[in-house]
Amino acid sequence: MARIFISPSKYVQGPGELAKLGEYVVSYGKKALVVISAGGIKRFGGVLEESFKAASLDFQYDNFNGECSQDEIDRLVEVYRSSDTDVVVGVGGGKIFDTAKAVASNVDAPVVIVPTIAATDAPCSALSVIYTPEGQFKEYQFFKANPNLVLMDTEIISKSPVRLSVSGMGDALATYFEGRACTRSDAGTCAGGKSTGAANALAKLCYETLMAEGAKAKLALEAGVCTESVEKVIEANTLLSGLGFESAGLAGAHAIHNGLTAMPETHVLYHGEKVAFGTLVQLVLENADEIYEVLDFCVEVGLPVTFEQLGVKDASYERVLEVAKLACAENDTLHNMPFEVTPEKVAAAMLAADAYGREALAE
Ligand SMILES: [Zn+2]
Repeated sequence: MARIFISPSKYVQGPGELAKLGEYVVSYGKKALVVISAGGIKRFGGVLEESFKAASLDFQYDNFNGECSQDEIDRLVEVYRSSDTDVVVGVGGGKIFDTAKAVASNVDAPVVIVPTIAATDAPCSALSVIYTPEGQFKEYQFFKANPNLVLMDTEIISKSPVRLSVSGMGDALATYFEGRACTRSDAGTCAGGKSTGAANALAKLCYETLMAEGAKAKLALEAGVCTESVEKVIEANTLLSGLGFESAGLAGAHAIHNGLTAMPETHVLYHGEKVAFGTLVQLVLENADEIYEVLDFCVEVGLPVTFEQLGVKDASYERVLEVAKLACAENDTLHNMPFEVTPEKVAAAMLAADAYGREALAE
């Protein structure tokens, strides 16, 4: 298997960058189809319109219907085809930019992703998570290219709910360990090959950045300000983790996250919050040196470390084993771990992670 590394063509991050969006987008097309929610237009419409006007870029809004479903993708493909738009721009959260990526890929148009939160590492990737119109997970769609441009306005993101950015840190926390496991097992990645030294180096920097800056950044975010520390964490959550997970590989943490869907009470938690707990479980499975460092970090920034914090009141062995069985599903990434993993081993690791977590919270 070849070593493969993929990434967006351009990544822009800084305070006030949204005001320059038109300047950037005009290099990709003459008229933008802007996928955005009604709330997004209210909050950012003024800045967007001024920036498009300054760049002499024509545009039309399309109100996102709230779900990244095949129906919504097909509808927007029709809108694109029946208009004279030639570039797709997604402004908002995960479902909006996943939809924008899918639409652009369908019509072979350039795509610009403008996240207004830093809650996951999805923006830079060449894949989207597709849901049913009712909001149930349906499938991953993989595209032939990553976004042409990802633009993060850190002034906007530092004003977004703190819990979302902390959740992004939880998603980013897994990247180094999952990549390391894939390298040890010689597993393939979402990029379609083996990992590179480059992807692993980015994943390691992602982890080191969180350890050095995560707690400081959280306090600054709570004060509603964008500091150097916040900038570094936004980069870790989005760029470092994004390139890291896609080209270095997924393993235990995300499989545990997927297994947790067997406990419906965890559905209200964010992706990164569940991935953080999955990271602890993976580290227990590996009996890794970093377990207490990661545990302390989670406690400090407020990521869940126990079943109770995940909203699970009944963590009986039978229920935990159900989660473990689902995490061990044939096509999931737990099999990228460099040793044999059984549902029994995973259930034991989950219960041990919960015990470590309870002890850490009691201190
Ligand atoms: Zn993730």
